[in-house]
Amino acid sequence: MKRTKIQKFNPDTIKGKKRLKIDTFKLADDSVISLPCGVISKGNKPKIAITGGQHGNEWNGTYITQRLYKEIPLEKTNGTIILLPVLNPPAFNQKTRVSSIDNIDLNRTYLGNDRKPTERLGKLLFENIFSKMDYIIDIHTGGPGEYLPHTAIIDRERVKEASLMLPYLYIAKSTGGSLISSAERETIKSYLIEVGRGRNINYKFVKQVINGIKNFLKGTNITKGQVTKKETETFLNKQKIPSPQSGFFKANTKLGEFIEKGQTIGKIEKMMGQTKTIKSPISGRIIYIRRERVVAEGENVLHLLY
Ligand SMILES: [Zn+2]
Repeated sequence: MKRTKIQKFNPDTIKGKKRLKIDTFKLADDSVISLPCGVISKGNKPKIAITGGQHGNEWNGTYITQRLYKEIPLEKTNGTIILLPVLNPPAFNQKTRVSSIDNIDLNRTYLGNDRKPTERLGKLLFENIFSKMDYIIDIHTGGPGEYLPHTAIIDRERVKEASLMLPYLYIAKSTGGSLISSAERETIKSYLIEVGRGRNINYKFVKQVINGIKNFLKGTNITKGQVTKKETETFLNKQKIPSPQSGFFKANTKLGEFIEKGQTIGKIEKMMGQTKTIKSPISGRIIYIRRERVVAEGENVLHLLY
């Protein structure tokens, strides 16, 4: 497999369908952080980067990104698709959200310092790859909980194209330093997908997201083919519901369900103590449910979109 220095990686001249190793920079022991990359390109615009593994324990995004490399034929491509399934290799190898090299969240580094290794990785990726794109799709999962597959954007101009992907769309507020926030500041059209939970692969959800991304690629003329119109429910607000006490959580609601204000969400059983019923403070669509049963007081058990 060809190795390329990230500074020499040029999405404007790359052509064909190929796998690469992108070398970024050297760690303390002189070993190089090297990223797996798949390119499917006719050497034209529009250019898109699809990324997973910013957080090393979020495997659905990694799995989806590498599947897209295998499933999209070069003949059906008009533009340039850059697939990066593992943006943070040290964290992926440790199977943890951030790597223990510096415990820095890669998804908060893009417009910041570059002194620590993870910050340096973020800066190199942004300068040499992301800043040259027309589009970015960045795929994540929940950690202790599970997300219903949905898209999030921070620019309302993206609603129409985002609606090509998944049935639920959240227009979020900007999060400082995140890849999609940083890219939107450079006017790169950016989309975040949340799908399933950490340290797991949900093949049903994965298939839904792959089909959604393929439809988006057709709708943006990056690939050829018939676009399917989709019904999308759009939300402007998210509320996270915290647990009122520490203990063992049991949900009695399902992902995707619409719940009314006052409806029971689940129960939290205190260690050697009382069980409390948790009720929803608002009406909304359940987009996230905590799957880890052990919960501390104040930790979120549910996210609602409304
Ligand atoms: Zn993540």
